[in-house]
Amino acid sequence: MGLVSHSLGRVFGSSHQEGFCAFCRGRRKYPAKKHLGPVDAAGMILFSALAGTVIWGSFDPRSLVLFVLCIGMGEIFVYLRWRQRMVCRHCGFDPVLYNISPNRARDKVKIFYEARMQRPEFLLSQSPLLELRKRLLEQERLKQRIQRVKGRSFDSSFKN
Ligand SMILES: [Zn+2]
Repeated sequence: MGLVSHSLGRVFGSSHQEGFCAFCRGRRKYPAKKHLGPVDAAGMILFSALAGTVIWGSFDPRSLVLFVLCIGMGEIFVYLRWRQRMVCRHCGFDPVLYNISPNRARDKVKIFYEARMQRPEFLLSQSPLLELRKRLLEQERLKQRIQRVKGRSFDSSFKN
């Protein structure tokens, strides 16, 4: 059983690479594995042969079906995990989607940003998106100040 869990751990266990988000520059981890490798396939062969022997008593050709099933499910699991973790936790930027459609990636970040801004605990976090929020607030304040100054000069020119 230890061997089985060890081989499963090798297949499903994840190693990571450190890096930075291309959008918010936040530090993040990327999963190193996108597909199953030859070591994983060897582990699957061993696992299905062992499981087949346990289930059917001796080596059985049905172990091959079990192997195909295991490798299919393992590949789907590893790929979906990789795909899910490629999205930045800080800003919602999806580099895979960006390669396909930059506009859809931008919309996704916008939705992520608006959803996060609704939560007060986000404002207390260390997220790099808060810098963007500060800049937007600054711009808004500047616009209001310009409007006030314009309004004053309009009033004074109207009085004269
Ligand atoms: Zn990011």
